[in-house]
Amino acid sequence: MSVNKNIPYGRQAIDKTDIESVIDTLTSNFLTQGPKVAEFEEKFSKYVGSKYAVAVSNATAGLHLAVLAMNLKPGDRVITTPITFAATANCVRYVKGEVWFADINPDTYLISYEKTKELIESKPKGFFKGIIPVDFAGLPVNLEKFKELAKEHDLWIIEDACHAPGAYFTDSNGEKQHCGNGNYADVSVFSFHPVKHIACGEGGMLTTNNEELYKKMMSLRTHGISKENMLENHGGWYYEMQELGYNYRLTDIQSALGITQLEKNNLGVLKRNEIAKKYKAAFKGKIKYQSLSKGDLNAHHLFVIEVENRKGLYDFLIKNKIFAQIHYIPVHTLPYYKRIGYENADLNNALRYYGSCISLPMYPSLKDSEQDFVIEKTLEFNE
Ligand SMILES: *Cc1c(COP(=O)(O)O)cnc(C)c1O
Repeated sequence: MSVNKNIPYGRQAIDKTDIESVIDTLTSNFLTQGPKVAEFEEKFSKYVGSKYAVAVSNATAGLHLAVLAMNLKPGDRVITTPITFAATANCVRYVKGEVWFADINPDTYLISYEKTKELIESKPKGFFKGIIPVDFAGLPVNLEKFKELAKEHDLWIIEDACHAPGAYFTDSNGEKQHCGNGNYADVSVFSFHPVKHIACGEGGMLTTNNEELYKKMMSLRTHGISKENMLENHGGWYYEMQELGYNYRLTDIQSALGITQLEKNNLGVLKRNEIAKKYKAAFKGKIKYQSLSKGDLNAHHLFVIEVENRKGLYDFLIKNKIFAQIHYIPVHTLPYYKRIGYENADLNNALRYYGSCISLPMYPSLKDSEQDFVIEKTLEFNE
């Protein structure tokens, strides 16, 4: 069998409703700071079940706003996972904080609850300020457990949910807890980079149930400028810059696209899970893949497997025009992080995982015949 075209590891799905909605906005009165941003925020918060949402220019900017809202200061220490995109850790460095990595669970590939607990308890109280767990590949971290730990040690939680819009875990009461619903994390962060579920070109969203944090992030998104609680008022034109903020806004054009993309997300997650089911059926007992607890839904931004000869499989798939990808090079081994002293961090599960992981094509428009080809080639190499 052969498929005569390139198969990427992920791709966006833009249809006629997306295009029409963007064109409508282009011919409207607002290209930015118009009604579409607020509409997108409202629909997104409804979708995940949070009280508030703040649209931002990208998730990296969103992570920056989130740590600023948590009042992170130079020297403050924050725990995250080494198996994530660098941006998760970088936001701590933007404000000159220290990043501490806790190792991953070798089966879920998520930050290990036990390792995080160990790390926190090995230091005096107050040593750490917060935790940034990542719903890696679309698999939700069980934030109920992390919240208990955070409460006990007075830590905040910023959930990096960039991979996981639509995913949920089931809590100890048997209730579904959707990623970003604000029940456990102080702030959750989503990305609308085209390779993620919802494509805006660039874009991101912050969700929270905390009104104070919401207001703070809204202000910081637009230069720290506000017309509320002003010290003076010179007239209708008057505003005050009350703190040092940024321009991290999303445009109306991007929001219009985000709104129609969001409408299709449940269907997309469903399709991604069908694809995952087929991969799992083909690989069961032969190839290791990311585990899933009963009652949880993986949104499957990625489908990750582990193989002994990863480089071999990667090169073999490329020869067959299948562009698999590696997620991720452990953050603490990137030259910048090595240089600032993370080289010898004891993160064996993350290193072992990096030696064997590979992400196979996973996106809603992946055709049956294309997936069959990917499976055939993967099994053929691995025999
Ligand atoms: C994509 C991604 C980001 C950054 O998102 P941008 O919107 O590209 O800034 C952050 N964290 C994780 C886990 C991501 O996958």
